[in-house]
Amino acid sequence: MADLIDGRAIARQLDEETKAAVDDLVAAGHAAPGLTVILVGDDPASEIYVRRKIAACERVGIRSSKHTLPASTTQDALLTLIARLNADPEVHGILCQVPLPEHIDTGKVLGAIVPEKDVDGFHPVNVGRLSTGTGGIVPCTPLGVMKLLATVVDDFTGKDVVVIGKSNIVGKPVANLLLDAEATVTVTHIYTEGLAEICRQADIIVAAAGAPRLVKGHWVKDGAIIIDVGITRVAGENGKDRLVGDVAFDEVQHAAAVTPVPGGVGPMTIACLLSNTVKAARAAYGIDTNVSNHGMDREERAMLTGSGARPN
Ligand code: NAD
Repeated sequence: MADLIDGRAIARQLDEETKAAVDDLVAAGHAAPGLTVILVGDDPASEIYVRRKIAACERVGIRSSKHTLPASTTQDALLTLIARLNADPEVHGILCQVPLPEHIDTGKVLGAIVPEKDVDGFHPVNVGRLSTGTGGIVPCTPLGVMKLLATVVDDFTGKDVVVIGKSNIVGKPVANLLLDAEATVTVTHIYTEGLAEICRQADIIVAAAGAPRLVKGHWVKDGAIIIDVGITRVAGENGKDRLVGDVAFDEVQHAAAVTPVPGGVGPMTIACLLSNTVKAARAAYGIDTNVSNHGMDREERAMLTGSGARPN
């Protein structure tokens, strides 16, 4: 029976650390970190995500505010709002919920958020920093994946890792973080041939394809570790929707450890958003954030590499 990597419990622990960091800032006379969320349009899923993020802020003492704009909002109006938030010292993190309406250039809008307040880690400067190992804010889901892995892997050096999916928000940043932790990384995608065979070699599989039950039992070698990032909503037998991951969970019990869906990566994404916001606030207050690389502090990085800073 594979061990369950309990994302909810690990996220709760991270939230406690984040709350303690917020309390420390307030005790030192600083304003609590502030996160502003922008929601454009009325996409129901986005509304749920935003509500969850705001509720999570309240749990750890982060000040949050929300700008809800109609779907007809012009790109210029959105850019003007972002410019105002960029200049507001009370705002440490800005998150513009995607997808944006079609008439808005998403890249331009996300690129307008100053990198220091880009708590999603999507700004090209943060992407560049991540891929060159020179600090910056790490996107929340990839950071969550690394934190989950760190609970079951002592040292990534030389580990054979397969990442399924090469998106800018999950696959590529996860691959970069793993490379930085000295793993041997194979990034695969929809056009990869022989995926089953490639996965069978892997010590670790990170599945981020959005393809329900893609990873079958016979794709997984005994004792492998599996992180299932995928979330697909499918109609359940009882008429209610249910969430399905990219891994045939019931077939991979010969693995050493696996994340469930739901309750694996999902909770970590929001917990990492909160910790990114606190890191952004500490940096804005000029406090040594102890960030050596990839937005992770030295202890976090040492946890991943086994030794801390290493040559590139
Ligand atoms: P995406 O659609 O942008 O990218 C999917 C990637 O997977 C692509 O590179 C594609 O080539 C590859 N792919 C698709 N089908 C494949 C297949 N059959 N075989 C091999 N490769 C395949 O998706 P994304 O935004 O990276 O998200 C991936 C999944 O992760 C989705 O299910 C999404 O809902 C989920 N997700 C979860 C969280 C979370 O917090 N848990 C966060 C972000 C994304």
